Amino acid sequence: MKLPVKLTSLAASFLFLCCSSALADRTKLKPGINSFSTQQDIELGRQAAGEARQKLPMCNDPKVDAYLTKIGMRLVDHLNTNGVEYPWEFHCVNDKAVNAFALPGGFVFINRGAIEAAENEAQLAAVMAHELSHVALRHGTNQATKAQYAQLGSGILGAAGSIFGGTAGSLAAGAGQFAAGSVLLKYSRGAETQADVMGTQVLYDSGYDPRAMAAFFESLGADKTKAPPEFFSDHPNPDHRVERVDEEISKIGGSPEEGTRDTAEFESIKREVLALPVITKPVPGAATSKGPAPPPPGSIKVGPPSTSMAPLKMQSLSLKYPDNWNRYGQDNDVTLAPDGGVVDAGNGQAALAYGVMASVARLEGNAPTGSEALDAATQKLIEQIQQENASMHVARSAKPVTLNGQAAMSTYLSNDSPAGGHETDWLVTVLRPEGLVYIVCVAPQSEYDRFERAFANILDSVRFSN
Ligand SMILES: [Zn+2]
Repeated sequence: MKLPVKLTSLAASFLFLCCSSALADRTKLKPGINSFSTQQDIELGRQAAGEARQKLPMCNDPKVDAYLTKIGMRLVDHLNTNGVEYPWEFHCVNDKAVNAFALPGGFVFINRGAIEAAENEAQLAAVMAHELSHVALRHGTNQATKAQYAQLGSGILGAAGSIFGGTAGSLAAGAGQFAAGSVLLKYSRGAETQADVMGTQVLYDSGYDPRAMAAFFESLGADKTKAPPEFFSDHPNPDHRVERVDEEISKIGGSPEEGTRDTAEFESIKREVLALPVITKPVPGAATSKGPAPPPPGSIKVGPPSTSMAPLKMQSLSLKYPDNWNRYGQDNDVTLAPDGGVVDAGNGQAALAYGVMASVARLEGNAPTGSEALDAATQKLIEQIQQENASMHVARSAKPVTLNGQAAMSTYLSNDSPAGGHETDWLVTVLRPEGLVYIVCVAPQSEYDRFERAFANILDSVRFSN
């Protein structure tokens, strides 16, 4: 079913209606064309947020999330959602990039990099007010609506299907990516300006100093030591951004004398965030050619794994791991590593030098069964891992084993270790209804013997859910 819509005529409705009369009249903003209901915004956003939480490294710090929620809800109280009650959620993402995004329906993700780059609470609130404005103005599904009209011409469900079809059809998307975001977060420059303007209004109404919006952009743009201000990589940088914010402040009636700039709580949370372990989603031994030279072999030492085990419950399985190891991630994407086991491979990209990753790769089409399917899915996974690890090769080819009574494949891979020298990666794969469960045990080749017993104990402890 094609819908006869002229994009040019629609474009007019995305423009905000500016009022030229009184200086104190704020810019009025309203959502653009949208073929989704607000209930569908919430459903789409909730699905995409689940995917984001699985694919992105989360801070997993309840104190930080509670603080983000407190600021977020203070802003929401002054956000015009046209009467829609969204199920607001605020999460900290353990990613050093200065970025934040909000999915339709009110699922807001703030990178630690944005918290660390903010000079005070008002600047963090500015980033969040910008994100909340994308939600209130429904920019995500507005964008999906335009994509739908332009390309698909199909009904609402067709658009939703195309957003999530991309996910189900791919085996383990790359680190730090999630498919739904590629449609729901592709905002136009016009949408960015709208979010800046509405965000400035929300800041003002919430008692924050609205100049923080412009100050945050300026401080990032001024840092010439960094690559081009790729800030808000999900948000194209509109022209004259700072000027437009300043203009809105004068329309509102100037900056309030008493506006909140900073709080002791912000400074305390910022310190807590700065102390979080640096971890983007680790890939086994991701020593890339772009990173710094790896340290000489043997220069990174980690302590022996404890023989006392801690329990871990994932969505698809449970297992036990040495209780002196750290746990990163959640749901079906967990990394377990001793202190010093996660290494910075450069550019804030974390690499696993010692430890275990457990995850689930989704499979194309209906879940296949049988040993041939397991073999094929395992080969495909290895190809994916090799794409991110150029030096990775198979050291001992796949052979059938069992894991918790299930048919499994055991493969040994070899790679450059981010700790220097070579590493051994023991990969065990099992086909389950939800996809290919894989567990990778990683240690430098020269020290593999020290960890082999712990790896075997972890694998022995695996129990699949239901
Ligand atoms: Zn934006």
